[in-house]
Amino acid sequence: MNFFKPLEVSATETKTNEALFNKEGEKVKCLIIGSGPAGYTAAIYAARAGLKPIMYMGLQPGGQLTTTTEIENFPGYPNGVTGTEMMEDLKNQAERFGTEVRWGMASAVDFSGSIHKVVIDEEHLIEAEAVIIATGATAKYLGLESETKFMGHGVSACATCDGFFYRGKPVAVVGGGDTAAEEATYLSGICEKVYLIIRKPFMRASKAMQKRVENTKNIEVLYEHTPKEIFGNEVVEGVVLIKNHGEATEEEVTIKVDGFFVAIGHKPNSDIFKPYLETDEVGYIQTVAGTSKTNVAGVFACGDVQDNHYRQAVTAAGSGCMAALDCERYLGEKANQ
Ligand code: NDP
Repeated sequence: MNFFKPLEVSATETKTNEALFNKEGEKVKCLIIGSGPAGYTAAIYAARAGLKPIMYMGLQPGGQLTTTTEIENFPGYPNGVTGTEMMEDLKNQAERFGTEVRWGMASAVDFSGSIHKVVIDEEHLIEAEAVIIATGATAKYLGLESETKFMGHGVSACATCDGFFYRGKPVAVVGGGDTAAEEATYLSGICEKVYLIIRKPFMRASKAMQKRVENTKNIEVLYEHTPKEIFGNEVVEGVVLIKNHGEATEEEVTIKVDGFFVAIGHKPNSDIFKPYLETDEVGYIQTVAGTSKTNVAGVFACGDVQDNHYRQAVTAAGSGCMAALDCERYLGEKANQ
């Protein structure tokens, strides 16, 4: 689910935004956009530092974690916790120190001046001295109906989060890039067998990753296969694949698996910021190494919207802390100027 509207806006919307940007908005010291672990951690730190943060939660309050079932690798929860519970805990902690958590989605920004303007839900203008972007990334899915049906019941987009639940069992990973290759090798250490399903006759992953896959005995690569349907009763029991799609030799193949991992890429939720912020070719916001600073003074980015490498709740939380500290220093220096 996307937090933001796509960049392409209609002429009417552009006019509405322009009209809003020229009005006087609500004055805010620190605005946080996005409510995953990065956003909430930034909120906890910013609130404790007296920045009176206002947070807008976006379309998916709690972020990607709310789509997983159990989280066992976030420090501090020895017995595991559901994504929804953990996000509720983080929200309560942020609110306890004075964060104002609001419903709403950023629909347009103007970062051209020293005060940063953000339109919420196409109707409310915020004028912020500093903005922390924690809008996350959205895992891409295949779009199969059965994929939605088994989400959290055998279908996952994160092997590090959910692989453990399939220990000793057969699983499948879809995708031929570095993420899929990494997820497959990670799962091979836990699961009985890993099918790596690739739609092309070759892998897009780096040579080093391809070698790791080839050298792992319990990974079987199925080239030129595409998933047609995931089946099962309550949970995933297998997948029907199409082999050699569109060719004379096309046939259906069924594999029995308990877990189905989709690793066909992520989309960072950065569209509305692109006119002002530097991003890489995929759209990940570029930050100054070792900081959360973007190319615009007073605009900071944390969590998955700027991290295509680690993508973990705990690393997102850590970068949220960095963003709040960078923001606090920025506002302190600005006040002393
Ligand atoms: P990529 O875009 O590189 O790869 C996506 C893969 O999914 C491709 O093989 C693509 O197939 C396949 N795919 C896309 N849509 C479908 C579909 N509908 N059905 C079946 N297959 C599909 O994404 P990644 O997440 O793997 O990587 C993103 C970036 O992050 C890359 O630059 C990568 O190098 C980097 N990365 C680096 C890592 C590292 O250095 N350790 C780890 C992870 C990622 P096709 O090839 O046919 O388009």
